[in-house]
Parts: sequence; structure tokens; C-alpha cells
Amino acid sequence: MSAAPSRPHQARATPVTQPLPLPPDLVIPADYGAVRNLRRQRECRHLVSIGISPSGREIRLAPRAAQAWRHLRAAALRAGRTLVPISGFRSIQRQREIIQEKLATGESLPSILKQVAAPGFSEHHTGRALDIGSDHTDDLSANFARTSAFRWLRIHAPRFGFHLSFPRKNPHGIVYEPWHWCWRPHLRTPRKNLPPLSTQAVNTTPPTLPRPPGRRPHLASF
Ligand SMILES: [Zn+2]
Repeated sequence: MSAAPSRPHQARATPVTQPLPLPPDLVIPADYGAVRNLRRQRECRHLVSIGISPSGREIRLAPRAAQAWRHLRAAALRAGRTLVPISGFRSIQRQREIIQEKLATGESLPSILKQVAAPGFSEHHTGRALDIGSDHTDDLSANFARTSAFRWLRIHAPRFGFHLSFPRKNPHGIVYEPWHWCWRPHLRTPRKNLPPLSTQAVNTTPPTLPRPPGRRPHLASF
């Protein structure tokens, strides 16, 4: 996310003057968005599938973000890097559930909100954010930053409109998330500069990583 002035295609920022409407045991501070420098995000209603995550969940994105992702993944494949989609669209209700699940483990809300966006503030609501892993790691951890896939993304993803939302020392006080990329076309290089996309590459099914038995599914954060 960026503190840059809003543009027409961005989710509109809504001033936060009242506590968010959440279950009685889950009250987000009214100044959450201002303190975190985060804007409210609209929930995307029109979504398309981009495949299945390593944990077996269908991943959906907004149509144009999905198209950009297919271009990105195909280009990575041509460069010998395998990008694995891990999490895409997430509803505001699902964001509530994630926080409630963490609260149930005894973790405090302030601690949780350093790792998980408050419901209504996650870029994943928009269908434009995608958590990405590689064929070497599908963990949502800083380990992804050590992969060649991540190094490739840092150089090439902006050409396809994808940008790292939470780099180190980001202004939101959010942990470093090398896996979280958001499609923000206003920062994209002109489409005419995109390399050609072969049909074969578009239709390639994302690889499925072997998963050790008993491993917990991902709880994607921001
Ligand atoms: Zn994410």
C-alpha cells in the first residue's frame, strides 16, 4: 500500500470515525487506519479463479489482476522461475475469522494487528493482492526473500503492475512481507512493453508442492 494520493482505480479511502462493526469481542480501534496509514479497501465482487493453492484452496483474483498474474507467471517460467500462488482474494468476513482464530489461541489483539490487517483494510479484499511462493518455498515467511524467484520478482514484477506492498521498514509498521504483491496498474510500465504471452504458458497449471502430513494451512496476513 502507498500513502500516495488516491487515483480513480484505487479503492476509495473512507475516513474512520467510528469503531468498525465487528463482533462484541473484536473491536478495532477507531483510529486504526490513521495510525497504520492504511486505507479501507472495497471487497471485490467479480472474481475469477487462477488455480489451486498448495493447501488445496481455490485462489481468486479480480479479472484484470488475474490476467496480469498470468503474464507475470508465464514470464517467470520463461526465465526458469516457478511462481506459486498461495492466497488471493479474501473476504472481510474471512479476515474477521482469521483474527478471531488468533484471539482464540490467547494472542492479544495489538499483537495480532501487527501481522494481520484489520477487517476492511486488507489489500486482499480488492482481489488485486496475491501472496506468492516458489517451487522452493510456499511459506509465508521472510525465507521467500532468499529465493531466486523473489529476486526475479523484484526486478520484473513492476513491469506487470505488481508491487511489493510491505517492504522492510514500511510506513505501516507491518512486518516485512516479501510474498505479498499487489497489482497496482497506475505504477505499471506501458502495456506495449510487456513481452508476448504464449497460450501454452497461460494454460500451465500451477505446480502443486509436496506437503508434509499434518502441516497447517496458511493463515495469510495482510
Ligand atoms: Zn498477502
